[in-house]
Amino acid sequence: MKAISVLGSTGSIGTQTLEIAREFPDRFRVVALSAGNNLDLLVEQILCHGPELVALADADRLTDLRQRLEALEPGRRPSRLPELVGGADGLCTAAAWGSADLVVTGIVGCAGLLPTLAAIRAGKDLALANKETLIAAGPVVLPELQKSGSRLLPADSEHSAIFQCLQGTPWADTARLSTGVPTPGLRRIQLTASGGAFRDWPAADLAKATVADATSHPNWSMGRKITVDSATLMNKGLEVIEAHYLFGLDYDHIEIVIHPQSIIHSMVELADTSVLAQLGWPDMKLPLLYCLSWPERLDTPWRRLDLTAVGQLNFSAPDRAKYPCMALAYAAGRAGGTMPAVLNAANEQAVALFLEEAIPFLAIPQLIERVCDRHRVDHHSDPCLDDVLAVDAWARQATREAAISLHGQPRTALPA
Ligand code: NDP
Repeated sequence: MKAISVLGSTGSIGTQTLEIAREFPDRFRVVALSAGNNLDLLVEQILCHGPELVALADADRLTDLRQRLEALEPGRRPSRLPELVGGADGLCTAAAWGSADLVVTGIVGCAGLLPTLAAIRAGKDLALANKETLIAAGPVVLPELQKSGSRLLPADSEHSAIFQCLQGTPWADTARLSTGVPTPGLRRIQLTASGGAFRDWPAADLAKATVADATSHPNWSMGRKITVDSATLMNKGLEVIEAHYLFGLDYDHIEIVIHPQSIIHSMVELADTSVLAQLGWPDMKLPLLYCLSWPERLDTPWRRLDLTAVGQLNFSAPDRAKYPCMALAYAAGRAGGTMPAVLNAANEQAVALFLEEAIPFLAIPQLIERVCDRHRVDHHSDPCLDDVLAVDAWARQATREAAISLHGQPRTALPA
């Protein structure tokens, strides 16, 4: 029985993780949950899983949560209420919760950084969905992993695919994961990309893309931020940086391939030119289950892949002119140090502004490029945590300022 703490339990990753826990009650026990604002769902999750601890991002809402739990009819009220904690410290408590063996990081954005570090420092294994943490703070997170011995198991479907392919090589060794040292014999990574919401749109039409357009993904059902990242292909750019930190390959050996069916989740090329791929339906439950059960494989009744039903698997090179975010991510990754943190924060802020309808879709790469350019003079090549947090805050502010200078003061207050 593995005890798990689920950070971001009310989101897409969190709810799918809890579905797995419900499907395998004799294998997984949920001991801690953390959420942002969705108290209705959180209460249901508490009733279903009976965690020992629940953390809320906003400490001011703890009273509301406590009252909701106490107001439940006696038949529904849990016999023992969970310990309730709030704010940044509360999230870190959930991440480092004593009885948890593994922490699923399903918080969106750099808000997941401090809880992820808390989990690592407490020696927990992690199922890493919250890629922004590694992208912003790779140079801080990797040494912490070495110190604590925590294992970072990739939950992102592409990185899970690479991880699964590497299990098939004679050099496979999770101790090597996230050491920055390339896996011997691994020559090239090919990250597959569905192409996102605008895959079939002519580039000229992107200027009129709306929030509704950008948040309708053709293959995957995910949270809003990552769905917009998929539409700009920044998600793939972030995954390139994530793959660099996880598997230690340099950027010249990490490539992006458009694969509209999302059946091959990524591929590795080995030294002898052999290529290994992992296949499955586009469903995040599979990579999440593998993180939870690793190194075992659990028997599931899930729909089995039928390639005759799929029919065709297609591949093409990404259109770099249509999707400038990819080049921005490669450039930030190659610059290293604090630049990926700036890229990530500028992207988070620009996407939030787009979702608020404060800027058009094509302003997202424009703002990120401006902010990364401004950061060049202050770039740190070997940042500590405080440096990462400082550039993260600076980049958010710089993105808001750039948005106002390029697009004027928005109708609504800019999100912080
Ligand atoms: P969602 O937006 O669906 O969920 C985000 C979760 O984080 C929710 O539980 C939300 O709480 C919580 N949250 C939001 N802001 C904060 C904050 N400031 N502090 C603490 N908690 C917060 O996102 P996804 O599940 O789609 O994505 C989560 C992470 O996983 C992202 O980093 C994403 O890139 C990654 N990922 C997601 C995939 C997917 O299929 N969804 C695939 C691969 C990676 P609430 O809703 O209660 O406000």
